Amino acid sequence: EAKKQTLGFETEVKHLLHLMIHSLYSNKEIFLRELISNASDASDKLRFLALSNESLYEGDSNLKIRLEYDKDKRTIKVIDNGIGMTRAEVQEHIGTIAKSGTKQFFEALTGDQAKDSELIGQFGVGFYSAFIVADKVTLVTRKAGAPASEGVRWESAGEGDYTLESVEKATRGTEITLHLKESESEFLDGYRIRSIVRKFSDHISLPIVMDKEALPSYDEEGNEEAEKPAAQVEEETVNSASALWTKARQDISEDDYNQFYKHVGHDFQDPLTFVHSKVEGTNEYTLLLYVPSRAPFDLWDRDNKHGVKLYIRKVFITDDAEQLMPRYLRFIKGVIDANSLPLNVSREILQQSKQISTIKSGAVKKVLGMLEGVAKNEPEKYEKFWSEFGAVLKEGPIEDHANKDRIAKLLRFASTHGDGDKQSVSLEDYVGRMQEGQEHIYYVTADSYAAAKNSPHLEIFRKKGIEVLLLSDRVDEWLVSSMDEFDGKHLQSVAKGQLDLGKLDDEEEKKHQEEVSKDFESVLTQIKDVLADKVSEVRLSHRLTESPACLVSDVYGMSLNMERIMKEAGQ
Ligand code: ADP
Ligand code: MG
Repeated sequence: EAKKQTLGFETEVKHLLHLMIHSLYSNKEIFLRELISNASDASDKLRFLALSNESLYEGDSNLKIRLEYDKDKRTIKVIDNGIGMTRAEVQEHIGTIAKSGTKQFFEALTGDQAKDSELIGQFGVGFYSAFIVADKVTLVTRKAGAPASEGVRWESAGEGDYTLESVEKATRGTEITLHLKESESEFLDGYRIRSIVRKFSDHISLPIVMDKEALPSYDEEGNEEAEKPAAQVEEETVNSASALWTKARQDISEDDYNQFYKHVGHDFQDPLTFVHSKVEGTNEYTLLLYVPSRAPFDLWDRDNKHGVKLYIRKVFITDDAEQLMPRYLRFIKGVIDANSLPLNVSREILQQSKQISTIKSGAVKKVLGMLEGVAKNEPEKYEKFWSEFGAVLKEGPIEDHANKDRIAKLLRFASTHGDGDKQSVSLEDYVGRMQEGQEHIYYVTADSYAAAKNSPHLEIFRKKGIEVLLLSDRVDEWLVSSMDEFDGKHLQSVAKGQLDLGKLDDEEEKKHQEEVSKDFESVLTQIKDVLADKVSEVRLSHRLTESPACLVSDVYGMSLNMERIMKEAGQ
């Protein structure tokens, strides 16, 4: 319907708008970064769809973002010729409905304005930042491929409601007009706008253009002279619009690397480390991949996007990261640019492409190599990495059999010989400390570090000074069930079956135990009768030195901790 509708915001959106306007005030210039980032996403989307449907370009494949300002009308415009939105999409994405990130955004707020303003981009609430500087925002959009009559006009003062109406729009894409508040005149300045663009959006690979303008000139009294009307106004590109990864390493400064990370990673902190490498050969590609310094709020959300972007000869193709990085490396961000793929690939072709899978396995090796390098040469950094992403990397041996051994060496655990609950012991450390005659790598699993450390199963190990890994991450059960050896040593739970300490048991002790067993035979039978349907066996044990009894699971059975996890998962 063409008629104008007035609709209300959801409570959470109202709350968000209020917060944007009143508490992010000291970093208000970020509104431009957010609107440019949306325009850039919209262009990327169009480019990908147009690969299989050229007509979406409507004869104009020259994608760009245009910025305009008007001192008299007090407006700033951000214009793109990207994918655009339908009426339903406007209603869904701009305004009414609070998005999944909104709640987490509120929870993550620290009260520190500088930090909080950086969070916006991560939580998918960027559009609303327009209301920090504007008291009215008008958005006119038309979806690529739709007729001119299907334009939509959305307008709001950022309070309780907004209006929606159908309009004519000849060109596809989105035009956002900010009607600046009285107090925000500083943004009606070409120099100021350009410097914000260079600060935040320099690495957007799309050109961001503005009309060329003459520097202000002054008369002898120091008054600004009126601008001479130029015969024809020319556009100029404000950002460097370069594909950073295509440059040689020596031509890229650390700051360039960091800025680019912030852009592709939707992050505000510098990355922890990165790898930038060009792989030559028949299947040529360049990769620039980063490890963030902090885990994102949606690390455990297995559908999360913002991972690794695929480009083909500098043209963005997709950010469907699953094809490019395995799940256990889902924290990796960056770009892979494939040289030898055809530009007109479809999503389906990508999924089956042998070249993509070769690139993926090459990229995984680069990432593992990078982590190995950090572990070896920068132990403090590795510690930081491990505390943020260790639990995710532990999914590695389960998911990636080909690289199991390399990943195993990167793992770190808490242990009876380690540094408290810190996961700092590698399997190589453990093996290096194994005792004469020790054949296995021993571990105990529990639902917390404290429970693991205080497990009665550890008593005999403590007495003999044998190291035991203390596993308490959720993923640990799966990890040990899919990784049964390291360096030829079997990973052995201390809580399963009859404890075989192999050569560590001394003969005399064994003899003594056999004698004691005979004495206890009748007691065991009695206990077994009483517990008849609750246990499958009652054994005399020499693994305890202080506790009178403990529960163990069958050698082939599920461990108790696993049973607990399965129960919690409703199995
Ligand atoms: P995010 O970009 O993280 O999704 P935003 O609040 O910045 O969150 O934008 C919300 C949504 O609005 C986008 O995901 C997109 O669907 C839509 N949108 C915003 N700006 C544009 C635009 N210029 N062109 C097309 N769609 C847009
Ligand atoms: Mg956005």
